[in-house]
Amino acid sequence: MDLRLYDTLTKEKRVFAPIDADNVRLYVCGPTVYDFAHIGNARPVIVFDVLFRMLRYIYGPDQVTYVRNITDVDDKINDRALRDFPGLPLNEAIRKVTEATANQFQADVDALGCLPPTHQPRATDFVLPRPDGKTDMVTLIQQLIARGHAYEAGGEVLFDTQSMADYGALSGRKLEEQQAGARVAVDAHKKHPTDFVLWKQSSAEEPGWESPWGRGRPGWHIECSAMAAAYLGETFDIHGGGLDLIFPHHENEIAQSRCAHGTHAMANYWMHNGFLQVEGEKMSKSTGNFVTIRELLNDWPGEVLRLNMLKTHYHSPIDWTVKGLEESAKTLDDWYWVAADSKGGHPANKVIEALSDDLNTPQMIAVLHGLRNNAAAGDEKERGKFAASLRMLGFLSESAADWAARKQQASGIDAAKIDGLIADRTAARANKDFKESDRIRDELAALGVTIKDSKDGTTWEIAR
Ligand code: AMP
Ligand code: ZN
Repeated sequence: MDLRLYDTLTKEKRVFAPIDADNVRLYVCGPTVYDFAHIGNARPVIVFDVLFRMLRYIYGPDQVTYVRNITDVDDKINDRALRDFPGLPLNEAIRKVTEATANQFQADVDALGCLPPTHQPRATDFVLPRPDGKTDMVTLIQQLIARGHAYEAGGEVLFDTQSMADYGALSGRKLEEQQAGARVAVDAHKKHPTDFVLWKQSSAEEPGWESPWGRGRPGWHIECSAMAAAYLGETFDIHGGGLDLIFPHHENEIAQSRCAHGTHAMANYWMHNGFLQVEGEKMSKSTGNFVTIRELLNDWPGEVLRLNMLKTHYHSPIDWTVKGLEESAKTLDDWYWVAADSKGGHPANKVIEALSDDLNTPQMIAVLHGLRNNAAAGDEKERGKFAASLRMLGFLSESAADWAARKQQASGIDAAKIDGLIADRTAARANKDFKESDRIRDELAALGVTIKDSKDGTTWEIAR
């Protein structure tokens, strides 16, 4: 059975052929560790965990190398360190922020049933040349300068986008089109407005490394080019991340890697997950419409969050709702009960077939429902396949008894209470008691719930 994957660069679904079937290589951009990850950040982690599991199934568990980096140098991290640890020297404060956040992230994604990647390099370990000779950022930047793809200006080292004939191919943005509307005053030292920073100077209050261009720190994009090359080589199989990374991040990773190594490709397949949304808007830190993985794990088992994520194909937007979570929780309660700790069996072919079609997880779930029905009707072979499929996908990590016991303990979001409050509010509005209806709306907001009124009534969603 061929695995077919959609490639953002060629805009087509193609049969996946690894460069080396004995070492299939996958890179996914990881978190910037300054704060709790939100459930939107969990989407690429879960989606690419499913891909990792599929690749391990097809090529063998020791035949796949998965690298997911940790971005531990970033101005947001500096700001957070200064805010939270004003008394400490900056480096120490930064270490406190990044270590605590990285540990939290690890615990969160473990709870979501994600396997640890093969390597999780930290950017700060790849700034300067390394004793083990693995690719580092300073050496990559030197190579880019030597090959005529980068230049020093205004205290920075910049990538010269005009030096690359097909810059912009991933995002489909042409250089000429980007000239218009550029902020000329801010970018006066750049040869072209799309030129981006490889290295910038640090003030005494900012983290910095001694480099051929003075004390400074790397730009964001160069770190992934360095860590990918360090573990996966100059050209590898699959590079992934969220849609928002296509431009500028992945576009610039491609430019740096190809121009530094003189290659035709950084990765042979580029995969991007769609956004997780709340009320039609991308969940993000900056807009404030986010709920952290940690908060959700207080109310729901990690496997419920995982299943809820996989109900939508990775390419499409997901609307994250309490209703969806409730349905996913019900499904899993039933699946645990029907699988009943069945041990034997291999994953069902039809599950593999669904995933082979560009990770068609909605189709996969439909297949699981069919297996479940056959198992519930007493077909032991199907029960074995059902349980083995679920385990391969990162479910059934607990015994059926533990699952049932946990369910009783966990309270979850109290949907009945929220429905009751909404009924009270509807009644208050019918009585034109707007003071009371506003009070109830505020109470719902405090519970982390937003409501939407329409002619068909009032609906609600989590919006913390
Ligand atoms: P960030 O910490 O913002 O760099 O994001 C880390 C990863 O999460 C990247 O792969 C982003 O594309 C992804 N991401 C961030 N927000 C969302 C969202 N609302 N839905 C899906 N993926 C997201
Ligand atoms: Zn990256």
